[in-house]
Amino acid sequence: MKNSILLTVFLAIAISLINCGKPAEPGYQTLKGATIFDGNGNSIPNGIIVIKDGKIEAVGDESTPIPGNSATIDLSGKFITPGLIDAHVHFFQTGFFDSRPDALDIRDSINYEELQDFVSTNPEPYFESYLRSGVTAVYDVGGFPWSLELPKLAENNLNAPHVAASGPLLTPVPAERIVTFNTSKDTVMYSIISSEQGKKVVNNNHALGATGIKIWSLNLKDSTFMTNLQSVKTEIDRLGNKMIVHATNLDQATEALRLGAKVLVHSIDDTIVTNEFIALAKGQNVIYCPTLIVSRGYYNAYRALKYGFQFEDPNDVVDERTKGLLNASTRFMKYWSSEQYDIDEYLKRTDSYLKEREQIRATNLKLLYDAGITIAVATDAGNPGTLHGISIYPEMNAMEEAGVTPLDILTMATKNGALAMDRLDDLGTLEKGKIADLIVLEKDPSQTIENMRSISHVMRSGLMRPVMEEFAD
Ligand SMILES: [Zn+2]
Repeated sequence: MKNSILLTVFLAIAISLINCGKPAEPGYQTLKGATIFDGNGNSIPNGIIVIKDGKIEAVGDESTPIPGNSATIDLSGKFITPGLIDAHVHFFQTGFFDSRPDALDIRDSINYEELQDFVSTNPEPYFESYLRSGVTAVYDVGGFPWSLELPKLAENNLNAPHVAASGPLLTPVPAERIVTFNTSKDTVMYSIISSEQGKKVVNNNHALGATGIKIWSLNLKDSTFMTNLQSVKTEIDRLGNKMIVHATNLDQATEALRLGAKVLVHSIDDTIVTNEFIALAKGQNVIYCPTLIVSRGYYNAYRALKYGFQFEDPNDVVDERTKGLLNASTRFMKYWSSEQYDIDEYLKRTDSYLKEREQIRATNLKLLYDAGITIAVATDAGNPGTLHGISIYPEMNAMEEAGVTPLDILTMATKNGALAMDRLDDLGTLEKGKIADLIVLEKDPSQTIENMRSISHVMRSGLMRPVMEEFAD
């Protein structure tokens, strides 16, 4: 036991000495001896991965040739998976109420406009939280126009995950009800009032590089909106883009599929899915992102106003600003409107409401999983209580509790996320020609997805680093 601990420490030091935080040198690197999970559902015991110039040159069993001039790291007894992918995040959101005044208006303490100026120019702390959580790619499905600059900014930055983004959202919600989201300079959400206006937003987003066009819920009773949405969808198709829909009830989600949505960014949680829904989802090859934990995150954030916020962050990856805010959460209790609800009463009622929803979400996930629907791991990080990076772990735990096998969760957290981002060509699995994004684990993730938390190292485009160490500036 003592020896194996010593060996672990030695290997960790060996890996950090070899890489030392420098960009990957040209030349070969080889990882050998680990059990490799390739993201396609296969595992290779005692495997070999050869990497050159940040890309995978070869993956295979112990007979795979190792180039003579390769820097080789022995990872015997360890486990390698592709880098994780979170298919639903928001870089304009902080994980607390300061970025969601619609949920709790604390703008007297933290100015929303200043906050947006800040987060738009400081994505680095969240980038680091993702990478050091083993998340090497993320899909920002809703943000200000600046979020559409992140993919380029992040792509060749070894301190950032790869990013895809869908940009400003289109919604049926009337303009006066979404004013708290937009700033005086910038728009994150457009209330769609005509076909022409909807098409214009689609064209703007597309021109700025949006991977997907996000519709923030449908209003089936608003026939004008639904007609406008048809035109929006036609425009999305004309441009060769894809429609992403936020729809959490069955009627809306079914209609979204009829309209041709390619990604559903949340679970259906009002009722159990029908056979019609399953058939449509199958026919459309839709990607279903369950986001099982985000509503519990809101609950935890409200609870934090009175009781403080607890979070599990063993590698200390959460950035200082977020930690400071959450550690001081009780100072925002004054914004809770006590005239309406006693907070304990609110928490009690919300808890039992959420338990019902969580049950429906889990049942629907299992039904869709059993039906062979493509599912991607997604957290909705940035929402209050759902922190950038680390939230992928409880999300995967919740999927396992719903009945998905660890090996399939692994595929959903890697390959299927790349599919959602339209990056399966170069991300998501460990295969020749793909970018060398991977993580090293101490424990076997196919036994229980809990073992993903045993991550020791992350490799981003060939650069391997220990997750417990802060990135150098
Ligand atoms: Zn979201």
